[in-house]
Amino acid sequence: MELFRLGISEARDLLRRGEVSAKDILDAVFSRIEAVEGSVKAFVSLTRAEAYERIETLARTGDDGSLAGIPLAVKDNICTKGIRTTCSSKILEGFVPPYESSVTEKLNSSGYVLVGKTNLDEFAMGSSTENSGFFVTRNPWDLERVPGGSSGGSAAAVAADECLGALGSDTGGSIRQPAAFCGVVGLKPTYGRVSRYGLVAFASSLDQIGPITKCVKDAALLLNVISGHDKRDSTSVPVEAPDFTSGLDREIRGLRIGVPREYFIEGLDPDVERSVRDAIEALERLGAEVVEVSLPHTGYAVATYYILATSEASSNLARFDGVKYGFRAEGKDLIDMYMETRASGFGPEVKRRIMLGTYALSAGYYDAYYRKAQQVRTLVKSDFEKAFEEVDVIVTPTSPTAAFRIGDKVSDPLQMYLSDIFTISVNLAGVPAISIPCGYTTEGLPVGLQIIGKHFDEAAVLNVSYAFEQSTGWHERRPGIDRLNR
Ligand code: GLN
Repeated sequence: MELFRLGISEARDLLRRGEVSAKDILDAVFSRIEAVEGSVKAFVSLTRAEAYERIETLARTGDDGSLAGIPLAVKDNICTKGIRTTCSSKILEGFVPPYESSVTEKLNSSGYVLVGKTNLDEFAMGSSTENSGFFVTRNPWDLERVPGGSSGGSAAAVAADECLGALGSDTGGSIRQPAAFCGVVGLKPTYGRVSRYGLVAFASSLDQIGPITKCVKDAALLLNVISGHDKRDSTSVPVEAPDFTSGLDREIRGLRIGVPREYFIEGLDPDVERSVRDAIEALERLGAEVVEVSLPHTGYAVATYYILATSEASSNLARFDGVKYGFRAEGKDLIDMYMETRASGFGPEVKRRIMLGTYALSAGYYDAYYRKAQQVRTLVKSDFEKAFEEVDVIVTPTSPTAAFRIGDKVSDPLQMYLSDIFTISVNLAGVPAISIPCGYTTEGLPVGLQIIGKHFDEAAVLNVSYAFEQSTGWHERRPGIDRLNR
């Protein structure tokens, strides 16, 4: 087997048995990147020199951390000290953080090797990576299609075997939807499970960092490393994180799985529906009990999210003014400099969101929009609480369609926003959810199954995912990028 195909856990076993060296794996990963990155374009920055230096240091110090020598990619909105962090925005094109995010600090102490920073929709605003201020990342399954977004670079890099796993961030689906489009695993942890310190804020009440990996066990391994209370993030919750790998292979016989009737609606692609229904049957064959549940406020989720997320964004992005960070334009006075900096530094989607959010928060409109949206958010959250009185996990499609074509939705923001319908409620409620591969469309594009859990019950989500994955093996199929590349 080519070493770049390895997942994290497989690589760890080989390294521990001394059958391969960290250098063998890194060589394989960088030659893979050389072969396919020209077509996929997953990375904003590659950190080749730093990666080789790093494995030398690890070898010298005999580091045997849980991820020692494992090459991973990190989304470029997560700060890495001394390594450019751009959020795929012109306004941060030259920004080199003077500090390390908590998640990468934890990865560092576990011995991981950073291969590069991955492309995203500018400031994580989007569902296709087409809003990147630099370039569009392509889906390794079909280079004419989007990889999803906003963590499209991370998902594409994992699917194309340009790294063994990656980190993404998820505000309204940005880990799960690209994972679904690229045929990999993506987990959004419970809000508060993973520190957001050093994640460039988009919508602080929704943002959460999580793993994108080739299999469920790898997601559990990465979650083990990055989760835990952090006093530098006041929204991180002081709960003990269990070992997420330990309960993976429990039987799921007798577990109650909810299927929300509001998620099988018009506009759901028939191929996606077929794969998801088959997946639900497969779970039933494993002994789970499937029950219909209702999440009655689902229809309001997109509108609610796009008011709250834009409001928070308009406030969070006020800090990019040409003084504190990154790019600064010329101006005849201070105000003019602010305006020129923001006018030329931000792309069109970011400007649209700042305007929408500023409007929603403005005096006279606050009650009608922002406050109303907060109230509806509470209803969406209580939908889940009620459903979880009946069931252990909830299963839905991750996205209403498989990967769409580059250019198809980018000129129609509303269509793009609507494609987030199945992922957004989860962020509003703060609960954990995963997307795992569950089949393919007739055109051969991957379909994602979303499994949603109770607050802080990632263990159940991972348990059901692992049982499904092991009994079906959908994750073993790889994209034909080698063919496409020639
Ligand atoms: N697609 C959603 C948006 O555009 C979600 C983005 C995200 O999760 N970062 O806001």
